[in-house]
Amino acid sequence: MKALITGGAGFIGSHLCEELLRRGDEVTVIDDLSTGRRKNIKHLESNKNFKFVEGTILNYELMKGLVDECDIVYHLAAAVGVKFIIDHPLKSMQINVRGTENVLELASKDKKKVLLASSSEIYGKKENGLFKEEDDRVLGTTTISRWSYSCTKALDEFLALAYYREKRLPVVIVRLFNICGPRQTGRYGMVIPRFIEQALSGEPITIYGDGKQTRSFTYVADVVKAMTELTNHPKAVGEIFNLGSGEGITICELAKKIRELTNSRSEIVYIPYEKAYQEGFEDMRHRVPDISKAGNLIGYWPQMKLDDMLKKIIQSVKQE
Ligand code: UDP
Repeated sequence: MKALITGGAGFIGSHLCEELLRRGDEVTVIDDLSTGRRKNIKHLESNKNFKFVEGTILNYELMKGLVDECDIVYHLAAAVGVKFIIDHPLKSMQINVRGTENVLELASKDKKKVLLASSSEIYGKKENGLFKEEDDRVLGTTTISRWSYSCTKALDEFLALAYYREKRLPVVIVRLFNICGPRQTGRYGMVIPRFIEQALSGEPITIYGDGKQTRSFTYVADVVKAMTELTNHPKAVGEIFNLGSGEGITICELAKKIRELTNSRSEIVYIPYEKAYQEGFEDMRHRVPDISKAGNLIGYWPQMKLDDMLKKIIQSVKQE
């Protein structure tokens, strides 16, 4: 199987490359290295089944050649991180919408399967309960740029489903919930690498808001395995799956845990959202998925426990 991974030099993409190569696939990566990093895939570049192309998914001609050469597209290229989206709203929307349209249109010519990486941002600020795939979305006003991300990802999903229904393009959609692991950078706002770097360097650990917001964290290896299994399952076509973990933790508890596991003496400080991001910023209070749909179809159940994943990530940050 020849796989094309858009955004393959990113954190999740680079782990997906490893998984597919391990399974014997040929892998081509296209990445513009805007948030992805060449060093994420450096160790793969000597593999004869691996190819890296530096370029953007907005380049239609380039994408045409790459899609023509592959059997399946894993479409991961997207704007990443709350901080990046707030700092670059226009670029984020262009990449997420035009880029995805390019991928779907090109893949539909020969009906090549597309896995679309969507996001838990889709659900917006829904307050309680586990998030199920068919739940309503609850979004804020358009003057708050965070919500644009949710809308662009929703448009991606609408587009993918429309290509599936009207053009018979086989698509599989996964909504990713706070994935973490080695190579994730804190530069675009992600909380775990930020807290670990702060704790290891003795800097204050910065909790935004009151720290009572909840998230559930999933180890990247569990997620890329599920992605490949879903793309191989005929019943996953035309469907949407949450991929995350059903166990939530507050950000305050997370900060304490990381402080403890790193034996850090960093103080824990609270920063108002408007200082951390921008005036009027709205956070999701609660974000924990119901993962039974993927569980029932492919037996998806994340294996790695939070303490173990944090230990692994701490180790890899120390090595870097
Ligand atoms: N967060 C925090 N300190 C940081 C970075 C993030 O308290 O230095 C919080 C953030 O406000 C959010 C949670 O941690 O409530 C998860 O943030 P992240 O950006 O990793 O993911 P998302 O908000 O997309 O779930």
